[in-house]
Amino acid sequence: SGARVVVVGGGFGGATAAKYLKRYDPSLDVTLIDSQATHFTCPFSNTVLVGMNDMSYIERKFDKLNSMHGVKVFTDMVTAIDPATKVVKTAGGKTFEYDRLIVSPGIDFKWNAIEGYDAAAAEIMPHAWKAGPQTVLLKKQLEAMPNGGLVVIAPPGNPFRCPPGPYERASLIAGYLKKHKPKSKLLILDAKDAFAKDKLFKEGWEKMYDDIIEWVPAAKNGKVTKVNAKDGTVETDFEKYKPAVANIIPPQTAGQIAITAGLTDKSGFCPVDPNTFESTLAKNVYVIGDAAIAGDMPKSGYSASSQAKVCAAAIVATLKGEKPLPLSAINTCYSLVAADYGISVAAVFAVKDGKISSIPGSGGVSPMGANYQFRKKEADFATGWYQSICQDSWA
Ligand code: FAD
Repeated sequence: SGARVVVVGGGFGGATAAKYLKRYDPSLDVTLIDSQATHFTCPFSNTVLVGMNDMSYIERKFDKLNSMHGVKVFTDMVTAIDPATKVVKTAGGKTFEYDRLIVSPGIDFKWNAIEGYDAAAAEIMPHAWKAGPQTVLLKKQLEAMPNGGLVVIAPPGNPFRCPPGPYERASLIAGYLKKHKPKSKLLILDAKDAFAKDKLFKEGWEKMYDDIIEWVPAAKNGKVTKVNAKDGTVETDFEKYKPAVANIIPPQTAGQIAITAGLTDKSGFCPVDPNTFESTLAKNVYVIGDAAIAGDMPKSGYSASSQAKVCAAAIVATLKGEKPLPLSAINTCYSLVAADYGISVAAVFAVKDGKISSIPGSGGVSPMGANYQFRKKEADFATGWYQSICQDSWA
């Protein structure tokens, strides 16, 4: 059809969408715009923190999307979207006209939702919830802390990017402390009373990190309400801590451009048609990935990539005047409790009563009480999953 499709963001959602648009209809004119020249993936960034992999392991480039798949790639920050005139504007002064637009900007943070935690505080108490310089900063702090120091991880309430992510991070950091700084402790100060795969994580912690990790739920005064980055303190309603390393993961919203463009509702995320991901607030604009409200689908890289394929197919169908197929999507979240200890949760999704819902009985979660070989195999599957999804999205 030769129609112009512009994609904002080259992460799991955007990169996959751009590639699959060209696959489904090579005649499309597809443009991908990301503010960064390369994308560092959050998946496997926890392994980088503890020295299992280095930054190059999680670095993804866009050149193959161009050379192998014919996507036009621009490094620029999108600053405005006008759905009325179908135009995207960038910080670099460029203007892109589109027939269809896909927005996959990931998340941004609600600064000061935790008192004192703003962009400047994050340079001292890293969130490391976007991979890149923040990952490097948190890694350096872990390396520099004394044996016997305290690490605090403060996960937010739901919804947020990667529900099991903070607990995988706690596990791998505990493994690092056990090996390199065995007198140290790790405190998870949680804004919730339950979390993804919590029984499985706790089983692993009891086995491996019993005297290192302590998880404090919201009901036991775990929720961090205030930080002071300058004096290094972290506070809940009734306690004050002075950790050697504070990893504060604040509440989140859709990426700022989605807010600026008027694509978000009161929740801070973007309402969409559950079969196509077209915004319910702007015609011909589609939102996928962490920024979208996607029912039962967790905010994961796998979800983003699955949504990207559904969305690309829906756009190709509607451009041809055909009716898009009903959504069928998938997610598996692997987490590492140690390098040789993996756990997972999987589901298949369909639209039920206007909402993306997990199909009962379609998925599953790793069994409790599994043996070493079983956990080791799931750790290997985690690595295999990471390599194949990166191949699928960027290569
Ligand atoms: P992103 O992948 O964040 O991509 C957004 C892109 O948009 C970025 O490249 C950004 O530079 C660009 N961008 C944003 N705004 C603009 C703009 N205005 N102009 C131009 N470009 C812009 N998921 C899994 O499936 N498995 C895992 O094991 C896993 N582990 C994780 C571990 C951690 C520690 C964390 C934090 C997350 C993890 N996730 C995992 C979740 C996963 O990272 C996200 O769900 C996924 O990245 C969402 O994809 P996305 O396309 O929505 O956003």
